[in-house]
Amino acid sequence: MDSFLNTYKRVSKTTVTLPTERVISYLGLGSSIGDRAAHLRSALQRLNSESTRVTALSSVYESPHLGLAPGDSERYPPHLNCVAQVETSLSPNDLLDSVLEIERAGGRERAERWSPRTIDIDILLYGAVSESSPRLTLPHPGIAKRAFVALPLAELAPQLTLPSGERLAETVLSETIQQQAIRRVAGLALSLAE
Ligand code: ATP
Ligand code: CA
Ligand code: CA
Ligand code: CA
Repeated sequence: MDSFLNTYKRVSKTTVTLPTERVISYLGLGSSIGDRAAHLRSALQRLNSESTRVTALSSVYESPHLGLAPGDSERYPPHLNCVAQVETSLSPNDLLDSVLEIERAGGRERAERWSPRTIDIDILLYGAVSESSPRLTLPHPGIAKRAFVALPLAELAPQLTLPSGERLAETVLSETIQQQAIRRVAGLALSLAE
């Protein structure tokens, strides 16, 4: 009996893995300083980890800098943006900590709001979570207003519904999105391979 229990314990230790609850989340990445594609690539590589698997990537889009002051879009270089689908075991707050850390690793410095940046990572959606705290608003309030978010997100999840009740596939056809200057960068595909 004793040896049976020991055997059982040993077996259960090696074969039973605790189920980890994973949530599908969508992250919006952007870069407007230096080697923008390289900044996106290293952020994606840092993101892809034990706790957060990158499971799909959108195309890359380029659009003008939208600053706070008139003339900012001529003064500053355009942005490259993409969206990553991830499966994460982190809570929303821990995922935010993780992306803020990856921004720091990517040389992000915080100046005034919407200033040029090496890397920006926004949590667009975290499962179906809808919440608003001083440090985290989910879904991200910019999705339906920004072509550089809505277009790549709709590539990965056209069936997704925003809090307004609108599906992403409809959002991208809206006047707000359709009138914005943006282009899909055809020759630049991101992958997780080195
Ligand atoms: P925007 O949020 O309008 O795209 P931004 O990305 O330039 O602007 P940041 O300076 O990168 O703004 O972020 C400021 C703060 O926004 C972060 O420190 C974070 O606490 C907060 N924040 C709130 N909701 C989110 C979210 N969904 N994803 C990422 N950060 C968020
Ligand atoms: Ca990694
Ligand atoms: Ca942002
Ligand atoms: Ca941000």
